[in-house]
Amino acid sequence: MSYELWKEALSLFAGGVNSPVRALVRPSPFFTAKGEGPFLITEDGKKIIDYVLGYGPLILGHSPERVKQKIKEQVDKGWLYGTPSRIEVELAKKIINHIPSAQKVRFVNSGTEATMNAIRLARGFTGRTKILKFNGNYHGAHDYALIEAGSAVSEYGITISKGVPEEVVRTVTVCEYNDLECVERRLKSENIAAVILEPVMGNYGVIPPEDGFLRGVKELTSTYGSLLIFDEVITGFRLDIGGAQSLFKVVPDLTTLGKIIGGGLPIGAITGKREIMESITPAGSVFNAGTFNANPLSMTAGIATIEELENKNPYTEINRAAEVLADEIDQMIKTEHVTHRIGSMFQFFLGVKDVKNASDAKITNRALYLKIHEMLLKEGVFIPPSQLETIFTSTSHNDEVINITIDKFKKVLGE
Ligand code: PMP
Repeated sequence: MSYELWKEALSLFAGGVNSPVRALVRPSPFFTAKGEGPFLITEDGKKIIDYVLGYGPLILGHSPERVKQKIKEQVDKGWLYGTPSRIEVELAKKIINHIPSAQKVRFVNSGTEATMNAIRLARGFTGRTKILKFNGNYHGAHDYALIEAGSAVSEYGITISKGVPEEVVRTVTVCEYNDLECVERRLKSENIAAVILEPVMGNYGVIPPEDGFLRGVKELTSTYGSLLIFDEVITGFRLDIGGAQSLFKVVPDLTTLGKIIGGGLPIGAITGKREIMESITPAGSVFNAGTFNANPLSMTAGIATIEELENKNPYTEINRAAEVLADEIDQMIKTEHVTHRIGSMFQFFLGVKDVKNASDAKITNRALYLKIHEMLLKEGVFIPPSQLETIFTSTSHNDEVINITIDKFKKVLGE
């Protein structure tokens, strides 16, 4: 039973979990025994409609048949070689084929590793030290990213993680999202190696870029000789098969990927312009290595997932599911609020009128959101246990599932 496992977990893990957002589930975290299509089946035998989807990777829902089959076939062939393999070539070709900025690829094991290495690469390539990031953007859990970060960092009220050295903090400068003037000021006055950003914020609720913001940042970085890094760990292969950069037609110098490209298995990737990527070892001297880099199971699950996206082009359908649901919720909420949706990502902010950056979003009524989360979970619907995370849909969220969800929302919001 979940509750017994939770009590045991509290004695085994810091805060009872292995990633902090998981501890926020109310009244206490449920333990999952199985994932199937749009559902999580808990240790208590409850079937729950899942809009968290592993925090983004599961664009085809849980355990999609063909991906599952391909993973099984790969298991029969072994799962760690320590040598190159055909499947890493195949997955890299798919990424280069779809993501406009991608000319060469380095596979790593998480989004965290991807941004950590992209930042090192930008510093090594430009010979500059400083990085410009945005308040509330989340780029994973390494030292250079844990400054004014979104997601669980902010949810737990941490501005700068303890343990990050002062010297590191001084190498990172922060602007508000959508504030081009700030970007220009910083680029002019500080010798910036790279600007890193989420092309659509997905770690502070969903906050889209204003018209011209991405293009403006791109122009400014090229004017001042800095690199532009799009962190597409969430948006890559979700907003479009070519990521946010295809959707907005702004091509960065480097892109970090993760989540969907591993089909639900651990993965990260750094990709971008050939001449920059050539600085990575062994071609260049910006070091990266990894025992598990390009691991065969993640490569296989990633290829199978992207093949499904190529063959079925399900974006219209996934986006429509999100649109129908987001619109219904938006109409049901009677107090002041804002709903932001882009593609298959959305979130509602309670008690605020206008949200264009993390400071606007900070003052939303998070307690009320959590209450809604808790009541929905009781009704069998799982939305993120934090206002700062994103609600996702997948190909498995069909009309029936969406309609059931709408009914549950009606009931909960009515109460
Ligand atoms: N970048 C972004 C935009 C993310 O959303 C995340 C994770 N949610 C990361 C980086 C870190 O990825 P991982 O959790 O795989 O380390």
